[in-house]
Amino acid sequence: MLARLRFRVERSRGRSYPEPDHPYRNAFQRDRDRVIHSRAFRRLEAKTQVFAPGLSDHFRNRLTHTIEVAQIARTLANVLELDEDLTEALALAHDIGHPPFAHAGEEELNRQMERFGDRFEHNLHALRIVESFEQRYARFPGLNLTFEVREGIVKHSRDFGPAERPEVEPYLPGLRPPLEAQLIDLADEVAYNTADLDDAFSAGMLSAPDVAECVPLYRAIHESIETRFPAATGREHFNEGLRQLIDALVSGLIEGTVSQAREASVGNVDEARAFPRRLAAFTPETAETSRILKRFLYAKVYASEALADHRNRSMAMIAELFQFFLDYPDRLPQGYWEQTLAEPAHRVVCDYIAGMTDGFFRRTYEQAIGPAIPPGS
Ligand code: MG
Repeated sequence: MLARLRFRVERSRGRSYPEPDHPYRNAFQRDRDRVIHSRAFRRLEAKTQVFAPGLSDHFRNRLTHTIEVAQIARTLANVLELDEDLTEALALAHDIGHPPFAHAGEEELNRQMERFGDRFEHNLHALRIVESFEQRYARFPGLNLTFEVREGIVKHSRDFGPAERPEVEPYLPGLRPPLEAQLIDLADEVAYNTADLDDAFSAGMLSAPDVAECVPLYRAIHESIETRFPAATGREHFNEGLRQLIDALVSGLIEGTVSQAREASVGNVDEARAFPRRLAAFTPETAETSRILKRFLYAKVYASEALADHRNRSMAMIAELFQFFLDYPDRLPQGYWEQTLAEPAHRVVCDYIAGMTDGFFRRTYEQAIGPAIPPGS
């Protein structure tokens, strides 16, 4: 397959603080383990993916979503003969920089930062977590991950040009990340599109015929299930369809990536890095399906009133708490407060809020400001 493009662990540029080798785990396997043992990783459990918990115990949270991405990404790496350990470490780390309250949280933090000519991006926040916020080692700050895992974290969803952001300067701006990192964003897309369909089905927001009507690839799947399993319940029918949809998208991603690499005639990792665009890609048909799915989910789910209410309240509360800590920096925990003497206060407040789980945010809000904004207000 693409073994010629596999990033070999022996070629790693290594860690910022040199460490002796481990007797039986290679550097990428250790990085995967370091991510799993980090506090930021455990906090994913209490961060909303799309649907806030409460209505159902079966909705994804950011941790179960991450596990689904890792499972899809490892399958891809394995079939394509890329480095499975590097891929898994990157998949497990891909959302650790996510703030509370899903995309609403990210959008609002970014909006707050823009008031100061700054920005919030979850990829860059993840880099700050693994480079400095995690405190697990006596000898150095952060997790001391290999260069390739840090590079993959900052570039997992977009590439950076030279001189675009000072913090990514060390991570080869202008070059594509290795194929292992390129897969993550697309594995993420397969995972969230299909999981959001599933959660929206559980929430009673859509049915299998609704999806069949709007998504041609799903329509074909749906009709064959109707013929083969006429007595299946709605739930069984939906699950059959969802499984086949995931399979079709993953297969399209494998086929698309192999054919892109062939057309580009890249022979090794350095050529793949220097190639002007990413090589990981869906086939044209599955790319179209993925676009249609996104549009469908946007109209049916993300822009729905039920989610909009939660999003608006979350954003309003983040804006209030952000302002509260700017006005009263001495109400920050001691360590953060001390940091405001060395760094701009908006950056410190942003880091503090971005690290919170949904539950911790609520408790902090209630202590600082008062009862959380109720639904429907
Ligand atoms: Mg994700």
